[in-house]
Amino acid sequence: MQTNEREFRQSKEFLTEHDQFLVVSHVQPDGDAVSSTLVVGWLLSCLGKKCVMVNEGPIPKRMAYLWNADQIQDLSQQPLDQKFSHVICVDCADFKRVGKTKELFAENAKILNIDHHPTNDGYGMFNLIVPNAAATVEILFDLIQYMNLELNEQAATAIYTGLLTDTGGFRYSSTSPKVMAIASKLLEYGVDGPGLSELLLEQMTLPQLRLLTSALNALQLSEDGKISWVTITDEDLQATGAIHEDMEGIVNYPRNIQGVEVGLLFKVIDEHAVKVSMRSAGKVDVAKVAQSFGGGGHVRAAGARIEGTLDTIIPRVIEQVKQQL
Ligand code: 5GP
Ligand code: MN
Repeated sequence: MQTNEREFRQSKEFLTEHDQFLVVSHVQPDGDAVSSTLVVGWLLSCLGKKCVMVNEGPIPKRMAYLWNADQIQDLSQQPLDQKFSHVICVDCADFKRVGKTKELFAENAKILNIDHHPTNDGYGMFNLIVPNAAATVEILFDLIQYMNLELNEQAATAIYTGLLTDTGGFRYSSTSPKVMAIASKLLEYGVDGPGLSELLLEQMTLPQLRLLTSALNALQLSEDGKISWVTITDEDLQATGAIHEDMEGIVNYPRNIQGVEVGLLFKVIDEHAVKVSMRSAGKVDVAKVAQSFGGGGHVRAAGARIEGTLDTIIPRVIEQVKQQL
């Protein structure tokens, strides 16, 4: 059934042969990261296995409806004094992306790396990497089928959430016929598709809208009109009362301007580092640009954490994008 049968078989063996697991995803988890973590947790519970789910960074508040979302521990809030020999990393394009959770990995821990980023470097002992999957949850859907497990509404809702958020509401080019077929099956399990779209894609909090307004007010455009960018600092968050998750989606606005090939969002992390989000209209491979700064991602959506200050980083990134244009 699968072209990468070997990787699916190895993943199945990894999950069935051991009893206790740590499940982690990337720092500041997004919809696919959280959903993938929970789907793996659900899968392990079906097998009668124990697992601890941990992240560095909070679960987005609006995802509290996900089954067991409150069971994911946030290492940035509370330390955990435990080591695990068997670790499952989901949606983490490279090892750095697991952040502080690596403190919980035993020396010589065996890692199963499940991911859909083409830039994934295969850091696991086993690597289930499917670059043409729209989301990591799509791979997990296949794995669940491969293992002959029957989905339920909660697991289906988590998979749908990951697909919905990583495809921008089934709109991005990653929205394959297969994605739509999976979504259709998930709806049959009782997933509330329109309700999730409303909650995750339409609704905004007032601070979130204020943050968007302030970012757009300071939007910049390159002379040729092909690159556009916005910046967000901690002062912006404080002034608007917005929180980290409220930045999600803002990078689409500069990208959406007609004629713009690359939209960028620069978020100041602290005085030493900036997180840049990159979105491409299609011509530029932003994963390549992100990789040149130590990050990664997909052709049309990528990111990197860059050491330095805004004034120095913005021109460096713009220059790299220009070279790709
Ligand atoms: P976002 O801009 O929404 O944070 O991320 C866009 C895409 O780039 C996602 O697929 C995300 O996983 C990836 N990405 C974002 N930041 C980084 C990073 O620092 N390193 C790597 N390898 N990928 C990143
Ligand atoms: Mn993803």
